[in-house]
Amino acid sequence: MSFLDCHNFAIKVSFDGDEHYHNLERCNRLGKGTYHRIINNLSVMLEKYKNLSIQARVNISKRNYISIQKLFLDLKKYTEFENFNLYFDFVAVPNDSILYIDSETKKKICLDLLLFLSKENIPYYHDLKIGGYCMFKNQDSLTIHANGNLYKCYSLVGNENYQLGSIGQVTNELTGLGSMCPYKDCAYYEFCYGGCPFNTFVNNGKMERDCQFDYLEWFHKIVFLDELGLLTKEDVEGTIQHISVHKIYVDKNLTMEACR
Ligand code: SF4
Repeated sequence: MSFLDCHNFAIKVSFDGDEHYHNLERCNRLGKGTYHRIINNLSVMLEKYKNLSIQARVNISKRNYISIQKLFLDLKKYTEFENFNLYFDFVAVPNDSILYIDSETKKKICLDLLLFLSKENIPYYHDLKIGGYCMFKNQDSLTIHANGNLYKCYSLVGNENYQLGSIGQVTNELTGLGSMCPYKDCAYYEFCYGGCPFNTFVNNGKMERDCQFDYLEWFHKIVFLDELGLLTKEDVEGTIQHISVHKIYVDKNLTMEACR
């Protein structure tokens, strides 16, 4: 941990619901739930290693979503640390999975959660990125499995078709694909670069562009309302129709004076 701290590493820790639901999904090799161990280790890391940046990802599924508010309350105390941040996202599962949440229910859950986070004064990460410049696309990252095998996406671990070799024996190209979307004018291009290809993989077995434009647009509009203190449960759909999102191109050579 000292090495990671010394080199300003960023660490992501994921939760699959409150203690009960998380422990159903994430057990150690003895079959014991890992929730308390993670919570305790988070406290130690945040107290001791100030250069680490720690991000908690909250995975939401059809099974655990009723427990997410309780989980946020457990994590609230960590949001006082500057090097901690919190975000939530939905699990990538096939549309016929019992964990799958359709897009309308997804919006309802998001709205409830954002209202809850505001009421409880719990800061969350405002820029929703779907995929972004993820490890499948960028040149700088890869996943090393515990057995030494290499992959370009952590969700593909164990899938032989996507194994790129192992440490010391690279058999395939390790460079990322780059952006998977040609639409550079899209307002969400830099949040997305073609989305999370694993979202398409779970349905058709191919790592392809995953365009969730409608959801990205809807989410950023309600976050905007939240930032203005105007987010309520009433008539959200009607209100956001009056908001439009535009991409602004900034010429880096412009002076502040010229911008005014
Ligand atoms: S939202 Fe769709 S169009 Fe926009 S960058 Fe992402 S994949 Fe491309």
